[in-house]
Parts: sequence; structure tokens; C-alpha cells
Amino acid sequence: MEASTPSAEVMARVRAALTGVELTDEDAARERFSRDESGCEGVAPQLVVFARSEDDVCRVLRVANAERVPVTPVGARTGKSGGSVPAAGGIALSLEKLTRVVEIVPDELRVVVEPGVLLADVYAAAEAHGLWYPPDPNSWPTCTVGGTIAENAGGPVALKYGVTRDYVLGLRWVLPTGEPLTVGRRTSKGVAGYDLVSLFVGSEGTLGVCTQATLRLVPKPRGVATGLVGFVDTAAACRAVSAVLGAGLLPRCLELLDDVALAAIAGQGLPLPSGAGAVLIVETDGHSTESAFEQLLRVEAVVRGAGALDVVAAQDESQRERIWAVRRSVSPALRRLSPQKISEDVVVPRSRIPEAVARFKALGAAVGLTVATYGHVGDGNLHTNVLFAPHQRALVDTLLGQLMAVTVELGGTITGEHGVGLAKKQYLSLEQAPLLVTLQRQLQGLFDPAGVMNPGKIFPAE
Ligand SMILES: Cc1cc2nc3c(=O)[nH]c(=O)nc-3n(C[C@H](O)[C@H](O)[C@H](O)COP(=O)(O)OP(=O)(O)OC[C@H]3O[C@@H](n4cnc5c(N)ncnc54)[C@H](O)[C@@H]3O)c2cc1C
Repeated sequence: MEASTPSAEVMARVRAALTGVELTDEDAARERFSRDESGCEGVAPQLVVFARSEDDVCRVLRVANAERVPVTPVGARTGKSGGSVPAAGGIALSLEKLTRVVEIVPDELRVVVEPGVLLADVYAAAEAHGLWYPPDPNSWPTCTVGGTIAENAGGPVALKYGVTRDYVLGLRWVLPTGEPLTVGRRTSKGVAGYDLVSLFVGSEGTLGVCTQATLRLVPKPRGVATGLVGFVDTAAACRAVSAVLGAGLLPRCLELLDDVALAAIAGQGLPLPSGAGAVLIVETDGHSTESAFEQLLRVEAVVRGAGALDVVAAQDESQRERIWAVRRSVSPALRRLSPQKISEDVVVPRSRIPEAVARFKALGAAVGLTVATYGHVGDGNLHTNVLFAPHQRALVDTLLGQLMAVTVELGGTITGEHGVGLAKKQYLSLEQAPLLVTLQRQLQGLFDPAGVMNPGKIFPAE
């Protein structure tokens, strides 16, 4: 049974028990911690606590557990599924002040960090030793390690390098009952016992709080080549993805921008191939610039055979960065086209991408809504955006249900990287059988008998 919104009396006792811990119940802070980037609505926290140490986290969870007060862990609130939006008030537990890079061991390809470290700072710490931490959600300048672990975040290079789960070796994790636990390992291999690290990664703050992470690093590729490939339309671009992968080539990124996304970023100076109605961003890497460009040429040969109009390669680092800056700006650019939009994050098997994109657009068109699709198309991970006017909200909800149903019908999943959170829990049963949902709830109950840990997330109400 999940904890519900506590009374003022209970919260006064919690506050008194947390003397010495940094906290506030000011309205401005409570309001700030009731939002993330999802637009999901929850119940504002009654108290915002800023942990300065693992001991603070343990104290908060011990008190919350005893008083049955909901606790929502919070990173940088860049989440897109409402994971850090409290569903039942209680405590918002911010980890943003735990920002130490504890140690980096270059010859062991390992870094140990606290959860509030920004991904950008992990990259910088690794790069100082010629190393690289590949997970690259487009929010990397602002999101925290803890948030990316809880969401199992991925990004453009997941196609070749995988997602966060592939890089977390070990964790310090405070159980919802307030006891700290060390799980996983420091070595690159290890299979002792159940893989609790993998269970925690992607658990969306429902199994406890990560207070330290041991992450795997890899040597930074010395050469990277990036190209823009224009196609007459989105279907042709999607078919080319299968052609590239079917030819035995594995670029590190294959990103799609459809016609609506291209219209949104028009005027931002991207050197688009002329006549393009859709674009793939292709990026290859290797041990030298020459080898990266050699791979890009091989991809070019395949995409031209698959109907590409033209290929424009970035000639230097600033042109490369320009392409990625524009790619990162697609979501805000779509919002400028339509202030009201919902961004979905479905995944379909790659062979079904052309069909999925066409059906999503047709479903939108049938009710007069514009659907934009962009994202990590090489992984089949589509950011399908529905643009709408405020009076069309009810239509949008129906359309989203249809998009999720088509995704599952095509053999896909309702979320590839943003998580279920509050935003998608009503769709979970499209994909998962009741027995599976019950089993996961039981598992959650084992870790969190009092039901205090981020209640109201992932699973539909019983
Ligand atoms: C512009 C933009 C681009 C994005 N691009 C991508 C992308 O390419 N790929 C992608 O995967 N995501 C992307 N996202 C979504 C988001 O950035 C990720 O989900 C990210 O992992 C969230 O990190 P955060 O620090 O903001 O966490 P928050 O949003 O604060 O929290 C996310 C979840 O993690 C939990 N949590 C946070 N810290 C901890 C902790 N220490 N212990 C336990 N649980 C914790 C929270 O309770 C919540 O459930 C994007 C978001 C934006 C705004």
C-alpha cells in the first residue's frame, strides 16, 4: 500500500526530526520542485530537503519510513515522464548538492561519482585522461548522473555504445527503510549473486536513492565524422536505416529529422541537402579521423543506393557541433511552432519504423493534429511529437492511446528512455501482462514495505 499525502502534524514531526539537515517549506521552492520537463501535474511537496551527504539521505528515509511520508528523489528535473514530480506531496529529496567526483582510476577505466554530478562534468573528468563516458542523453549539459541512472537514459550514440545500464558497475544505494547498501562491483566483470545494479538502473526512484555510482569508461575515439543525408521524404529516410544496418555497418548515430522537425529548425543555418523532405544525421567514429571518414564514405555509398538525395559532411569540429546544437534544439523549435506539444518516446523494431512513422502521422491527420517524428531512429526509438492547441487536449489523449497501441501491435515498447513515471502508467498494461505488473509491485514492496518511495509512479493504480 503506497503512502498518501501526510497531514501538517506529521510533517511538523518530520521537520523536527531532521534538525541540522538543509530543508525548506517556502512556497517558491515547493512550486519549483513540483515540476519537471514533462508537464505532468502532481501534488507539491510539503518539504524540500537538500541532501549534503549519504547520512542525510539515510536520516530522511528513516524518518519518512517511520512516519509513512512519501519521498521523491530529485536530480535536475529534466525528466520527461514526471519521475521527479511528487504524486502525493511529502518530501522532495534533492540530490543536486552531492556533486563530488570521488575518484577516477584511468588504468582501471573507472570513475566514482556522487549522484548530483552533471553528465557534462563526468565527460570532462574522463576526457582529462583521454577517456569517455558514452551515455549521451541530449540533456547532458544539465542532467545529473543519479537521474540518468534512475531513468536508464540513452542518447544518439546508444546505437553503437549502449545506454546507461551498460556503464554502471556498482552503486551505493540507500534503501527506502534508510539502510545504505553497496551493490555491484568495481571490476569490469563479475557475476556474484543477482544483478541488483541492473534492477536499480531504470527503477525511476522507486527502489531507493543512489548516493554514489561506479561507472565504466572507455577510451575516447580519436576520430569522429558527421554527415547530413537528405531524402525526399521520411519513409525513404527510414528505409535507408535498415539498408545501412543490413549492410553490416554500425555508425555510432543514426538520427532522424522528419519534414515537420526540418520546418521547425529552418533558418538555424544547418547545411541541409537541397530538396530534402527528411534528413538522417549519421555519425561514425574510429581510431583516427581518416578511419571515421572512411566509414562515413561506406555509409554514403549505401544510403545513395537506398535513394539519398545528397550527403553533406561536417568539415571540422565547429560544423559538427553546429549540427548537434541544431539537433538538440529540435524540441524547443517545435515548441515555438506550437507552444502546446507532447513528446513521446516509443521504440519499434527497426524493420517496422517506416510503417510506425506513417501510421502515427495518419492517426494525427485523421483528427487534424500535426505529428512530428525525430530521434534515435537507428535504435527504432522515435520521439513522436503531437502539436496541438489548448482546446484539442482531449483529442490528444485519444491519439496518444492510439499511438501506444500501434507501437505495441508492431512489437515495440511504450518508452525507450524517458521512463513511465506519471506520464505513461496508464499505458503499461498494453505492453505488460497483469502477472508481470503484480510481480514488479511485489518486488517493490520487498524493498519498500511502507510504500514511501516515489509512490504513484510506473504502475497503474491497483
Ligand atoms: C532537452 C532535453 C533533452 C533530453 N534528451 C534525452 C535523451 O536524449 N535521452 C534520454 O534518455 N533522456 C532525455 N531527456 C530526459 C532527461 O534528461 C533524462 O531522463 C535524465 O536522465 C533525467 O535526469 P535528471 O537529473 O534531470 O533527473 P530528474 O528528472 O530530476 O529525475 C528523473 C528520475 O530519477 C529519479 N532520481 C533522480 N536522482 C535519483 C537518485 N539519486 N536516486 C534515485 N532516483 C533518482 C527521480 O525520482 C525521477 O524518477 C531529455 C530532457 C530534456 C529536457
